[in-house]
Amino acid sequence: MLRAKHLFVLVLTTLIVMIGFGAMGSQSISAQTVKFNSAMHTSKNLTYNGTIKYYVKSDAKKYSSDISYATKKWNKALGKKVFKQTKSMSHSRLVFTGTSKLGRSYAGVAEINSGVIALNTSWMNRYNQQKRRAVVIHELGHTLGTKDLYVYPNAQLRGMFKKQTIMGGNYSTTIKSFDSKLAKWTLRHTRTMSQNEFHHYRANTGLYYQQMLHGRI
Ligand SMILES: [Zn+2]
Repeated sequence: MLRAKHLFVLVLTTLIVMIGFGAMGSQSISAQTVKFNSAMHTSKNLTYNGTIKYYVKSDAKKYSSDISYATKKWNKALGKKVFKQTKSMSHSRLVFTGTSKLGRSYAGVAEINSGVIALNTSWMNRYNQQKRRAVVIHELGHTLGTKDLYVYPNAQLRGMFKKQTIMGGNYSTTIKSFDSKLAKWTLRHTRTMSQNEFHHYRANTGLYYQQMLHGRI
């Protein structure tokens, strides 16, 4: 999830922090200094045979170029073509949908059981291109098995994650070394779903995000 309200606070704090860095010397995180641990990953990712085939539903088509940008960025950062677009929803592990049904504080949500990224149209439609792309990049990070780092237990690290990492919600379109190393690490520490398990979720029309996909909420 990417919390929209954070944005304005982040823009402000980023400015202050940049000034602060200039005066005090910067403290930046890197994959070398921060040890990855289980608080950073969920139990599973959305890959199948090393790829995540994604489908863009009609209500998310207007964000197609942002989605394309974000998937290319991740593919480059991961060093392989993990995200591949498909024209068939039934062949996809991930569906992008645009919705007005999310809580208003969320710009986007990733659901990892049945494979949905829901983009909040009320935020996406007023965000500029850079922010729209950043939302998609963040949500795609969840499909690789990474958790939100803006809720990381350790307060000092949490503060740094928020400012400097994709999964901390920094609203950046730059996937830094820390972000890509963490994503590669979470891919190794989370499991993939069998077709059976995945389709069990995808076919479950009672699931909130499946109802959303089928226009029932
Ligand atoms: Zn998130």
